[in-house]
Amino acid sequence: METTWTHQLRAVGLRVTRPRLSVLDALAERPHADADTIVTAARVAHPALSPQSVYGVLRALVGGGLARRIEPAGAPALYELRVGDNHHHLVCRECGAVVDVDCAVGAAPCLTPSDAAGFVVDEAEVVFWGLCADCQAARRQHGHRSSSATANSSAIGEGVGA
Ligand SMILES: [Zn+2]
Ligand SMILES: [Zn+2]
Ligand SMILES: [Zn+2]
Repeated sequence: METTWTHQLRAVGLRVTRPRLSVLDALAERPHADADTIVTAARVAHPALSPQSVYGVLRALVGGGLARRIEPAGAPALYELRVGDNHHHLVCRECGAVVDVDCAVGAAPCLTPSDAAGFVVDEAEVVFWGLCADCQAARRQHGHRSSSATANSSAIGEGVGA
């Protein structure tokens, strides 16, 4: 893995450093992780790494186009190494699970505004919100145990308590 990272870092003009390699490894294992998760993961390989330096590495990787930052509403920014393919994300409203989905069109922008108002549009941000399969199953179970009127509020109560 390291030689690939070395090539990729150099290709975008970034110096090859231990922190950058550790963060790249952490990202490779955890797509769509937030910065704090990456800090924890990168510190396993590189305990001296400070959160600030991990944030700095993430900024550099995003700036160099090696990583992508996505910001689903209401969640911390998430990072991934799958870049340059205009893929979109399915996000679960309940548990926050994030899943990649190929763009149905391919190239950005895959949607055309009804009126571009003189803008040159280069991207349409597409996020598919819904309920993942696990959360649907959990809801169905709650529905069996309690009446449908209380199923929803008890599910929320457990979420807050957890
Ligand atoms: Zn879910
Ligand atoms: Zn993704
Ligand atoms: Zn698309």
